[in-house]
Amino acid sequence: MKIDLVPNEDEPPSGGSRPSPSALRPPASIEAFQHKNLDDDEFWRRIPQYRDVDRDTFLDWRWQGKNCVTNVKDLRATLQDLVPEAFYRDVELGLARAPMTVRLTPYVVSRVDWQNRDRDPVRRQFLTIASQLRPEHPMTHFDSLHEQEHSPVPGLVHRYADKALFLTLDTCPVYCRFCTRSYSVGLDTQKVEKLSMGLNRLRWERAFEYIRSRPEIEDVVISGGDTFQLKPDQIKLIGDTLLDIPHVRRMRFATKGLAVLPMKILTHHEWVDALAAVHRRARKAHKEVCIHTHFAHPNEITGVTRDAMNRLFEEGITVRNQAVIMRGVNDDADTLKLLVKRLSYVNIHPYYLYQHDFVPGVEDLRTSLSTTLDLERRVRGATAGFNTPTFVVDVPGGGGKRDAHSFEHYDRTTGVSVFRSPNVDADALYLYFDPLHLLPAEGRARWSDPAEHGAIVEEAIAVVSPPKKQLTSYETAAMTPTVFDRVVGHA
Ligand code: SF4
Repeated sequence: MKIDLVPNEDEPPSGGSRPSPSALRPPASIEAFQHKNLDDDEFWRRIPQYRDVDRDTFLDWRWQGKNCVTNVKDLRATLQDLVPEAFYRDVELGLARAPMTVRLTPYVVSRVDWQNRDRDPVRRQFLTIASQLRPEHPMTHFDSLHEQEHSPVPGLVHRYADKALFLTLDTCPVYCRFCTRSYSVGLDTQKVEKLSMGLNRLRWERAFEYIRSRPEIEDVVISGGDTFQLKPDQIKLIGDTLLDIPHVRRMRFATKGLAVLPMKILTHHEWVDALAAVHRRARKAHKEVCIHTHFAHPNEITGVTRDAMNRLFEEGITVRNQAVIMRGVNDDADTLKLLVKRLSYVNIHPYYLYQHDFVPGVEDLRTSLSTTLDLERRVRGATAGFNTPTFVVDVPGGGGKRDAHSFEHYDRTTGVSVFRSPNVDADALYLYFDPLHLLPAEGRARWSDPAEHGAIVEEAIAVVSPPKKQLTSYETAAMTPTVFDRVVGHA
């Protein structure tokens, strides 16, 4: 096709078309560039214990590991008089009730504004304080995603036909309050005796054997715990073993490490070299190896993160982010928009935003589904579509990730939402429950009566499914026999 490049006499002499004033956007405000403002100073020196720590020391991944805060005594030695004595007592009481132990890298400690400790979005994710805890929802239980029920061998979850989740170990560089696997990850707490999923080569062999035996598995998520904890030769062993399996086409190393220990990418050269070697070998075999990580708040992204990401980007390694929506952390549209833009700026793809999993000990962090639906409306359109996360609910009962909008029924008074997941189980229904303290008074009143619990659940599922269909729901003493009889596995 011939394109006529001769300018029209009516057009400006430059040959370009004169912009229509009505089509011009007003100049961007200073806030529009906020995502580029990454903390590049020596921010850790604000913490009494790190006042004299130089940059090289702070960026040393081994120093970070050796100086983690793992109890109140460490916290006191680190923060000293930055917080009042009453705060240490609040932490002590909080940890006595928490399902996760505490482990904070100096990097995480330094990202908290301790003057604003009650509301700080980083503190809220990692350090439990008793004064903010709320009673459990009566339907809560451990392993809400029913991972163990979908594990043909210990530590290998096979829920979707073409995908497997390989839980390699049960430790992490930090322990998050909101952990889905609080039933297994980290040390025992006063409240929870953990199911051991420690690093065990025999267990790994059984997992590899299972993957080899199932040609439909193309996608393997290597998780834990956290794969930052794997040694370089273990990264190589897992990567090479899976690459040797012809039907495995994609693997993702899951780690929160980039958000809590980004300097490992800059100073643990053997680890990055091992990952890069697996990645290069995969590309030659036309397979994909990438990282899935978890930043929940823009304050977690600093100049150190940018430098770490530049290193991975130069290696060609794709990094995607999967964040959880948490109350008081990121449950407002401005924070999420800034997070999405800052992630994109450092070349991390904002992939998923999750409804908080329905696990114990975090009722102060969970939000209602209606909050997620509202946030989705307000975040979409803030940046390019490919950098806009999908808002999902990993539905309790093992139905997998469902688009937050795809519920079959949502009762905003009782807070019960009902989902289907046809590719997991065409007949089953999966229920999510909003936190009680966020319900209207009528809903709270109904849940305050244990005799009502079964009826609330039954009402929600009756809207979607006529009686006699199989249902997946929660095992609870509060359920009436009528509902209980209709639950998968209990009929
Ligand atoms: S890093 Fe992941 S596995 Fe480890 S405690 Fe946090 S959420 Fe759980």
